[in-house]
Amino acid sequence: MFNEGTMTRKAQCCCGACVVEVSSEPALHGVCNCNNCKKRTGSAFGISAYFWAEDVRVVSDNTAIYALSNDHGKQERHFCRNCGTTLYWQVEIFAGMTGVAGGCFAEDPLPDPTFYAMLDNKCAWVSFSEQMKAGLKPEDIPTKN
Ligand SMILES: [Zn+2]
Ligand SMILES: [Zn+2]
Repeated sequence: MFNEGTMTRKAQCCCGACVVEVSSEPALHGVCNCNNCKKRTGSAFGISAYFWAEDVRVVSDNTAIYALSNDHGKQERHFCRNCGTTLYWQVEIFAGMTGVAGGCFAEDPLPDPTFYAMLDNKCAWVSFSEQMKAGLKPEDIPTKN
């Protein structure tokens, strides 16, 4: 259930046309160094904050979907038709969760990510905090009973 009245955070695209609101802390929150995340963000890595789908509410939407399939299974990425920001997505291996682009919480920052993944693709000049775990194992992915 989306918790009305609790502390929520908003994530939005560059132009502000697309806004999602979350009512919980991320269930899974990491940084991905894969080439696909580099291209999606145009940056050195992607920040992916996964929430249980019921804790995410789309407040304002002008997105189109980019559907793809890779080693994480099928994915659907919702990007703004106006400014192109990828704001949220669903990935097959993270069933029941909605991923939200961590950087889109710029005005409403999230806690620190807890892990970084796809180490083989990490840019040599990038280093992460010692508090963050290196890699993501299948048993680290939360499931809802
Ligand atoms: Zn936009
Ligand atoms: Zn990635």
